[in-house]
Amino acid sequence: MNRITRRRWLRNAFSAGATLALAPSLGAATRATPWRNWSGGHVAQPAGRFVPESEAALAEFLAQSTGQIRPVGSGHSFSPLVPTDGHLIVLDRLTGMIDHDAASNHATFHAGTRLGDMGAPLEAVGQAMINLPDIDRQTLAGATATATHGTGLAFNTLSAYVAGLRLVTVTGDVLDLDVNNRPDVFAAARVGLGALGVVTRIRMQNRPVYRLRERTWFQRTEEVLEGFDQKAAAHRHFEMFPLTHSDYAIVLEIDETDAPVANPPVSPEEDAGFDNQMREWYGLPVAERRAAINATVEQMIGPPSEVVDVSYKVLANVRNYRFNEMEYSVPIAAGADGLREVLRTIQERAIDVVFPLEYRYIKGDDLWLSMFSGGDRAAISIHQDARFDYRPYFDVIEPIFWKYGGRPHWGKVNNLGHAELTKLYPRFEEFRAIRETLDPKGRLLNDHLRRQLGVPA
Ligand SMILES: Cc1cc2nc3c(=O)[nH]c(=O)nc-3n(C[C@H](O)[C@H](O)[C@H](O)COP(=O)(O)OP(=O)(O)OC[C@H]3O[C@@H](n4cnc5c(N)ncnc54)[C@H](O)[C@@H]3O)c2cc1C
Repeated sequence: MNRITRRRWLRNAFSAGATLALAPSLGAATRATPWRNWSGGHVAQPAGRFVPESEAALAEFLAQSTGQIRPVGSGHSFSPLVPTDGHLIVLDRLTGMIDHDAASNHATFHAGTRLGDMGAPLEAVGQAMINLPDIDRQTLAGATATATHGTGLAFNTLSAYVAGLRLVTVTGDVLDLDVNNRPDVFAAARVGLGALGVVTRIRMQNRPVYRLRERTWFQRTEEVLEGFDQKAAAHRHFEMFPLTHSDYAIVLEIDETDAPVANPPVSPEEDAGFDNQMREWYGLPVAERRAAINATVEQMIGPPSEVVDVSYKVLANVRNYRFNEMEYSVPIAAGADGLREVLRTIQERAIDVVFPLEYRYIKGDDLWLSMFSGGDRAAISIHQDARFDYRPYFDVIEPIFWKYGGRPHWGKVNNLGHAELTKLYPRFEEFRAIRETLDPKGRLLNDHLRRQLGVPA
């Protein structure tokens, strides 16, 4: 641990990485290279990849082909949304900003743009995204398709900031959608799961450029939980990563600031510090972990680490240690009890895990398939090292989430099917009806989507 600076340890505390799951784009006619998602939890052998050079080429391909297809982003979903033995549609050539409008703070991007490639061009025109998730390797289309979110009671999912989008249907029709044009299809397509067509461009609601100060520190989990609601209300972003088999959490607080940028680069050794520490802890017998982890953390306790930078450089992290994740969002009032029960269960069942949890609040919205439709929610995430089978852990915890009224993140591991999901989402059947109209033959469905959307093979 001595080579690990506290700041890096905190910032990179449980990691995930920048490597893309897709092979390089091969052109319109592709050979069948296997596909795997970021965590390696899902592998597929697609018949091919179609990498259109233009929306017109995509529309032609869709109109003329007949087989199964799945749009793919950067493969960062933990649930099997993408796997297919048909064709993957890859938008690696449809990237970058198309236009922007200073008056409305709108900017339109090709849908294959990675979130991490949006910050700089937006900054150049005086705009910034309103919020970002924990990482920025996702594509804009992939992130919005699953209601990807960051942290903050004042902030919605990225899908809620979609002001308009272009959808190319399986018949090759090009639909420009917003609240005035086909509002029902727009409502469904904002969190579309890649089940309605291929999204090729997205107009985002942004805001003027801003700077953020991030503060991170260790604190007793129970103490943080007791003051969580006040802190979440008082700060732009407030969240915590409770360490498993430990009494401590990493706490993260982010606020807007005019202070000058202070974000010095860190060395690769420092970067790998927490990952190495977690590997070491995995080598300990579970019964010895609480004492060892608490002792290590207690050595690191001190004043908060601080970073100040332009928003997109503060909000997103680099995660290099591969893992699988399950996330459920529960009503805020149930959040603390739900989190306590998960942590207690991990302890009592001596579950072999080291990865921290993540606990954050997200603002409610009215999107049909957003996990946050109908009210603010607390998102509780559990993670397991990708080298190990996550099921013995996740299968024990998932019923706890159900008990507290949880809705699963579409892009993360869950075992729900249509019967359960339709009860969780008041507009679920309307989504299904629109899907049926746009793709009656189910060309866009894979086994997972058929199960979740209740469409027999
Ligand atoms: C390390 C890590 C950290 C994460 N952090 C967060 C977080 O902080 N908050 C959060 O909410 N989630 C988080 N996620 C989950 C992630 O944001 C979602 O799973 C997201 O959907 C992944 O985007 P992607 O570009 O990789 O899409 P993929 O995983 O490739 O695809 C996701 C869905 O999008 C669809 N899709 C992709 N492109 C298109 C298109 N052009 N048209 C139509 N549909 C399309 C696919 O068909 C699929 O249904 C994290 C994931 C990882 C691996």
